Amino acid sequence: MSEAFLPYGRQTIEEDDIAAVVEALRADFLTTGPTVGRFEAAFAERVGASHAVACANGTAALHLAMLALGVQPGEVVIAPSTTFLATANCARYVGAEVVFADIDPASGLMTPETLGEALMRVGDRRLRAVLPVHLRGDAVDLPALAALARDAGAVLVEDAAHALGTTMDFGDGAETVGDGRHSAMTTFSFHPVKTIATGEGGMVTTNDPDLAERLRTFRSHGMVRPEHGPAWWYEMPEIGFNYRLPDILCALGLSQLAKLDRFAEGRRRLAAAYGDALAGLAPLVQAAASPPWSRPVPHLMTVLIDFEAAGRDRSQVIEALRARGAGSQVHYIPVHRQPYYADRYGVAMLPGAEAWYARCLSLPLYPAMTEADVARAAGALGEALGL
Ligand SMILES: *Cc1c(COP(=O)(O)O)cnc(C)c1O
Repeated sequence: MSEAFLPYGRQTIEEDDIAAVVEALRADFLTTGPTVGRFEAAFAERVGASHAVACANGTAALHLAMLALGVQPGEVVIAPSTTFLATANCARYVGAEVVFADIDPASGLMTPETLGEALMRVGDRRLRAVLPVHLRGDAVDLPALAALARDAGAVLVEDAAHALGTTMDFGDGAETVGDGRHSAMTTFSFHPVKTIATGEGGMVTTNDPDLAERLRTFRSHGMVRPEHGPAWWYEMPEIGFNYRLPDILCALGLSQLAKLDRFAEGRRRLAAAYGDALAGLAPLVQAAASPPWSRPVPHLMTVLIDFEAAGRDRSQVIEALRARGAGSQVHYIPVHRQPYYADRYGVAMLPGAEAWYARCLSLPLYPAMTEADVARAAGALGEALGL
């Protein structure tokens, strides 16, 4: 076969995205200019939040959220083990300790049960934040997690790096991830594999004006301009970072955001095509479960494979897929097992994260794919498993 290789994910950059960047390069401000505010306003409007603060990447967004909350050394943050490293690392950036929550091995999501179990491991330490992840684009049970966090005296911060455009219905009508109905802040990433891309880029949304102000301050060195001083005066009451997103990338973000509905529709159509194409590979291959309240914009096409029953290990399947032109990726190696965290905390028993890790594999999914590409990837998986 001579068809192009299908990576597990990739950006969709079109001529008008390129034109938007070129225009931004000709403007007066390459950074800290008016396009930043325009991107933030459009993003806030799109997800239904009062405030959006653009920043350098999704990791910076998480770090800024911890700084804005004032999380202190020795305090505790709960994060799921099945996520990208950054969800947990942001707690360590501010000196806090991580308690890893388990996940439901069918969906990969933190649940009220797994959060409840993690809460018991916090002990008498001060819990400040709970950081659920909308893995693959599927929404966690926000009202239930928010209630548990509130009862424990902690704040909910959503890691929505996978979930731009996802909506939910918990029985009170449609809600959008990032609208802040259940959480203090929500973070997003615009890494090329995510739903919209700026190369590097991130956003934090919130409905709390004080948090928005603190996010902006920490994004730019911790600098403030008190009203009492002369025009040139600035002060740094707390130390911050340079986590700004330049106007060049905000212009790309604006252009990409305008296409979100089309990208979302494409992802939904391709995920549905996978559903049909993979039906013949059951029960060896099963799509990750989607909770009933979730209306995802699918970010990852993660399937759960019974490698033992197939008589092949994951590396062999990944290699066989690659040989047939299909990329794949493991989302994720449990973060609590990473050497840094294992050295610091030991390795907790998280059977859900282990079961998910033993079976998960993400297949190619991005809007530029066709239904024929889906058939090719699904067919390659069948062959790779000897079906
Ligand atoms: C991509 C990702 C991040 C980090 O985003 P970057 O923009 O790459 O820094 C954080 N959390 C999750 C779940 C992610 O997938």
